Amino acid sequence: MPFTSPSWVPALPEIPDSISLERFMFDEHYGRHPLGYSRPPFSCALTGRQFSALEMKERVDHLSRALCKEFGFKPNEGSEWDKVVGVFSLNTIDYMTLAWAVHRIGGILTCVNAAYNASELEYQMNDSGAKAIFTCLPLLQTCKDGVKKSKLPNDRIYLLPLPEQVTPGLQNQGHQTIEHLVKLGETLDKVPASDERWSKGEGKRRCAFLCYSSGTSGLPKGVMISHYNVMANTVQLVTHETPIREELQRETENINYTEFSLGLLPMSHIYGLVVISHLGPYRGDGVVVLPKYDFKWLLQCIQDYKISMLYLVPPMIIHITKARDVCKQYDLSSVRAAFTGAAPLGPETADDLAQMFPKWSIQQGYGLTETSTVVCATSPKDVWLGSSGSILPGIYCRIVTVEGNEITGYDQPGELWVKSPSVVLGYLNNQKATKETFIDEKDGRYMRTGDEAVIRKSKNGHEHIFITDRIKELIKVKGHQVAPAELEAHLLTHPSVNDVVVIGIPSAREGEVPKAFVVKNAGVKESDDELRRSIEKHVADHKTDHKRLRGGVQFIEAVPKSPSGKILRRLMRDQEKERLRKE
Ligand code: AMP
Repeated sequence: MPFTSPSWVPALPEIPDSISLERFMFDEHYGRHPLGYSRPPFSCALTGRQFSALEMKERVDHLSRALCKEFGFKPNEGSEWDKVVGVFSLNTIDYMTLAWAVHRIGGILTCVNAAYNASELEYQMNDSGAKAIFTCLPLLQTCKDGVKKSKLPNDRIYLLPLPEQVTPGLQNQGHQTIEHLVKLGETLDKVPASDERWSKGEGKRRCAFLCYSSGTSGLPKGVMISHYNVMANTVQLVTHETPIREELQRETENINYTEFSLGLLPMSHIYGLVVISHLGPYRGDGVVVLPKYDFKWLLQCIQDYKISMLYLVPPMIIHITKARDVCKQYDLSSVRAAFTGAAPLGPETADDLAQMFPKWSIQQGYGLTETSTVVCATSPKDVWLGSSGSILPGIYCRIVTVEGNEITGYDQPGELWVKSPSVVLGYLNNQKATKETFIDEKDGRYMRTGDEAVIRKSKNGHEHIFITDRIKELIKVKGHQVAPAELEAHLLTHPSVNDVVVIGIPSAREGEVPKAFVVKNAGVKESDDELRRSIEKHVADHKTDHKRLRGGVQFIEAVPKSPSGKILRRLMRDQEKERLRKE
C-alpha cells in the first residue's frame, strides 16, 4: 500500500477539470475567497503599487483582448501550442496578470529563469515555439540578444514595468509595456473566454505553463503543466493547511482570515509560480512582491507590510541566521511561519532559526516542477526539523528499491514515486524521457522523482517524509537547477577537453556547486593551473552565474563508465564525499 496523507487532513475536494486557471482564480464559484474581501493579490514592496482583486480581473480581461489583437490569437480556435507566450522577467505585480490573460484565451505561458543568458533564452524560445515575449528593463538587452538568434520576430518584445530602484537610468528603447496593451484592450471588444467551449476533462489535457527542468537526466526539457495540475496543487495545499487556517480564524475572530506573504522567490520557478502566486491570491491573501534579493529590502518589507508568511529557500535562511544583529534592527514580530523548499534545509540551520525566532513555525516542503510543486510539507501541528513533512491530500507515495521492490515499512530508503492529480502531462517533444519518468502502474500513473526518501514516524505517530539523497543527475545551486549533461556537453567544446563528468558537491552557502572532472586531450601544452582557469572561464563566458564551476576542476585519467558506456556518477559522488569527509 502506498503512503498517503495523515487522517487529520480533510479529504481532497473535487478539482474542476474543464475550466482555465483564469476562471479558477477569479470566479467565486470555484471556492476561492470572495473577491471583494480579499487583500490586493499582488503589491509592490518598493513602490506600494497594488491592484485589488477586482481591478486585476479587469486588467486580465483587457490584456487578453490586446493579445488577440496584437498577435492574432483566437480564443476558440487552434491549439494552445499556437498561443505560447514567453516571460523573462524579475518578479513584478503584473507577472500573473500576463499568465492569467494568456490562460483566458487558451494559451500557454513559458516561464524563463530570469538568471538565464541570451543563449539559454534562445533555446527556450525555440523549443517552446513562443510567439511573443515579455521582459523587464534590467533584462531587456539579454532578451534582445537571445531573441535575435531565435525564431521569434524581434518586434515581439514587450515590457513588464519594474520600480525605479531596480531600473536606474534604463530606457524602454521603444518597446511597448503591458500598460499600453491593457489600455489598448480597454478600447477593444471583449473576447470570449476559451474555456466556455471546453469539454469535460479538457482542463486536464490543456497545457497552461511550460516550465523547464532537466528531470532525472539530460538537458532541460519543457515540462507541460496543465490547468488542472495547478488547480490540484493549489487545492491540495489549501486542504493541507485547513486545520491551521481554522485556528488562525478562531484566534483572530475573523471569518475571512487573510494575510500577507512574501513574493521574493522567482515566479518563473514552480515554487514561486504555484505556491506563492496561485495559493495566496486564491485564498484571498496578498503577495508582497520583491523583484530581487536584497537583505535589507527583505527585512524592511516584512516590517512595513506585517508579513506573516515567509516563503524562502535554504540559502536565505542561512543568511538570516548569520545576520542576527541586522535582523534585530527590524520589527519581524508579524511573522508566524517560515516555509522553505526547492532544496534540503539542514536540521542544524532549521534549529538555529528556531532558536532565533522561537515564535516562528519552521516548515519545509518538498516538491518538483513535474509534480506542479508540493508533494509533502510540514504541518504546524507536527513540526519535526529536518523532515519534509506529511503527504498532501490526494497524493500517494511509494518508496521503491533499486531492484523495483516496494518498501512498505519505516526507515528504509528507496526512490520516491508520486501519484497525484498534480503530476504533469509529460515532457514536450520527448517521449523517451516522458516514458522513463511517468510510469503507468496498476493503481495509476506515478512519477519517478529520482530522489531517495525514507518514511519515519514522529513522536505523535504521524508519518513524515525525509529526503535522504538525490539519485538523479540534477545539481541544485541556491535552489536553481543545473543539469550536468548541459555543462558536460559545453565543456566538450573546449579544445583541451577529451572527456568530462560534472557532479554537485556540497557548499555551505549555496547548497551545492558544480565540479568538473576532466580528462585532458593528449598533447595539451598549458599547465594544469592555466587549463583549469581556461575551463572555468569557458563556462563563465557562456553560462549563467549559478552554473559556474564553483566546485572547481579536477583532472583525471579516465571517466569511470559502465560496460554500456553510462557514466558512473554515483561512484564519483561517493568518492568525492569520502574525500571531503577526510579533509
Ligand atoms: P525543481 O523541479 O527545480 O523544483 O527541483 C526539484 C528537485 O529539488 C527535487 O527533485 C529535489 O531533488 C530537490 N528538492 C526540492 N525540495 C526539496 C527538499 N525539501 N529537500 C530536498 N530536496 C528538495
